[in-house]
Amino acid sequence: MIKGVRGAPDILPDEIGKWQRVEEVARSIFHTYGYTEIRTPIFEKTELFIRGIGQGTDIVEKEMYTFLDQSRESLTLRPEETAPVIRAYLEHNLSARASLVKVYYIGPMFRHERPQAGRFRQFHQIGAEAIGSDHPAVDAELLALLQQFFHELEIQEVELHLNSIGDPGCRPRFREHFVASMLAREPELCEDCRMRLRRNPLRILDCKNEGCRRVVEGAPKPIQFLCEPCTEHFKRLEELLHLLDVKYVINDRLVRGLDYYTRTTFEFVNKTLGAQNALVGGGRYDGLVEALGGPPTPGIGFAMGIERVVASLPKDLQAAAALQGVYVATLGREAWEKGFWIVQALRQKGVRATLDVEGRSLKGQLRQANKEKFRYCLILGEDELKKGQVTLKDMKEGGQKSIMLDEAVERLVERQGP
Ligand code: AMP
Repeated sequence: MIKGVRGAPDILPDEIGKWQRVEEVARSIFHTYGYTEIRTPIFEKTELFIRGIGQGTDIVEKEMYTFLDQSRESLTLRPEETAPVIRAYLEHNLSARASLVKVYYIGPMFRHERPQAGRFRQFHQIGAEAIGSDHPAVDAELLALLQQFFHELEIQEVELHLNSIGDPGCRPRFREHFVASMLAREPELCEDCRMRLRRNPLRILDCKNEGCRRVVEGAPKPIQFLCEPCTEHFKRLEELLHLLDVKYVINDRLVRGLDYYTRTTFEFVNKTLGAQNALVGGGRYDGLVEALGGPPTPGIGFAMGIERVVASLPKDLQAAAALQGVYVATLGREAWEKGFWIVQALRQKGVRATLDVEGRSLKGQLRQANKEKFRYCLILGEDELKKGQVTLKDMKEGGQKSIMLDEAVERLVERQGP
């Protein structure tokens, strides 16, 4: 038997309800906040990710699924979608349609990481990008959107961590102090980071190695070196977050080691999840569009791991959301035919409905209704049918009552219709 690839799990029918719920809530909230969907290809030219994510990062150095196609062009399965979105933004001149372009995406990403709980090689992200404005209101709105998303999914354990990492104006001074502190602790750094220290010292900030992270903890922080405009931007963002009642904590260790990442950085963390507890990562990238060959254009975005959001859903929400539709249970051939017709009528009205085709006993059918998480069971027995009646059993509340066969479809559509 051929098995699936390690780190690329199947999402089975039992779990799919939770995924669909997360995606539905996301789509509806994006719509409210003025974000429209964009779909970019699963693979891109390798060069796009090298430039967009940056040489010297873990993703580009170790984690990309890169291959030569039949015409010997180097392609890469997307490890993230910000670079593809910016590519599409430039290629299709989206800025001509709106000065502020707000898009979202949902789909699989690929990274060759060591698989473990909450970390996969194929995983899924919901993300958004707002391109064309450096106004702190865009940052505040994006964070309000995420807070609302977690609220609607009843995920209460999340905490927003917020930081500012400055811009090319204040970075040189930070860099100077940072390098001095790294040089002092060089022996504690991993081999890659000792190389980075010579070539791209700020990339040490992104290293996932435990030892390097400990060293970085003790190093100077970008927020201590913010220039006047960056301080002003961060102050205004905090005011706007208070205005919108968005809760957050400052976390001065949230950093990114690439030059085109600027100012706001954030994460939503679920502390109950264990080691892989970041649900969302995001921030400003006022230099990225230019780095990808476009005109200077500010932007901000985030990406969220759907696997980790699904793992954070409250248990009872999962169960309650699942009870839906009508299972028609029948006894005898004549009742089955009536039932088959009723199921068809319900389906045409948009109600989830089914009936047994495997010859189960009445008891077996009720058990099946329960197993398949139907909200109602409509029972058609021989004697009842003669009187033109059927029994409606509520699988959630537990009660049951007799209703007229003629009215059954109408009554169920009222309760379960679209
Ligand atoms: P990043 O694109 O690295 O900033 O990650 C953004 C979010 O995507 C993280 O906070 C995680 O929720 C999720 N994520 C990133 N890498 C993985 C992975 N290998 N497996 C599962 N989720 C991931």
